[in-house]
Amino acid sequence: MKRFLVVTSMALTLFACSRNAITGRKQLQLYNETDIQAMAVQEYRQFLTQNKVVSAGANKDAEMVRRVGQRISTAITAFYKGKGLGKELEGYQWEYNLVDSKDVNAWCMPGGKIVVYTGLLPITQNEAALAAVVGHEVAHALAKHGNERMSQTTAQQLGGVALSVAVANKTPEAQNLFMTAYGLGTTVGGILPFSRKHELEADKFGLIYAALAGYNPQEAIPLWERMAAASGGGAPPEFLSTHPAEQTRINELRKMMPEALKYYKPMKR
Ligand SMILES: [Zn+2]
Repeated sequence: MKRFLVVTSMALTLFACSRNAITGRKQLQLYNETDIQAMAVQEYRQFLTQNKVVSAGANKDAEMVRRVGQRISTAITAFYKGKGLGKELEGYQWEYNLVDSKDVNAWCMPGGKIVVYTGLLPITQNEAALAAVVGHEVAHALAKHGNERMSQTTAQQLGGVALSVAVANKTPEAQNLFMTAYGLGTTVGGILPFSRKHELEADKFGLIYAALAGYNPQEAIPLWERMAAASGGGAPPEFLSTHPAEQTRINELRKMMPEALKYYKPMKR
């Protein structure tokens, strides 16, 4: 029995801390990516049935969302393969949907499940700015920020082993944790913003992903200025409550720009 315990805790330790392939940062990762992706598929399906999906066939905006998603995912796949990181995208089955909602919001679940809300489009205004937002959200997924956040919450509150079993079995408790970790809680008050560290990583790699997909990353600067202007009056839109459009963010984006521009090859129209 004692030996069994030692073996289990060792396995958990080995599994728990891993270096992220793209950010190079060591992270607490208590959850198996396969389990996380399985939960994402389930939550994504449920979200799409409960919200009004704009069909891409007849709608220019929905087509734009699909085009941005396809270009970004194709570029990322080639980029990861080129770096010998193709395995990182195992299980990714990219999907891109526009949903009819006045919320200013967009997200990407692990496994490449993307949603853009129609309310975001008056602020993005052009395709390259939309690519900056989608790139940012995809970067959160690929940098495994949600897994890290779930793992940190677990480490604080519950026994890691018990909860990884809960996640594998998709218990309601694990689902709640998942929804909170990915910023998909039902009430705005329940949504935790990603940490500043996570936001900086998502901004940095989001710019690179947009650039790799042929979108000018410099569009991110006026985009965040429009975000800042939009959050000026009344209640902040959902995306802005978790993504403050402060001057410091815009300053950081400017600093990241020379690196992102190295990846930028304008696409042929
Ligand atoms: Zn973010």
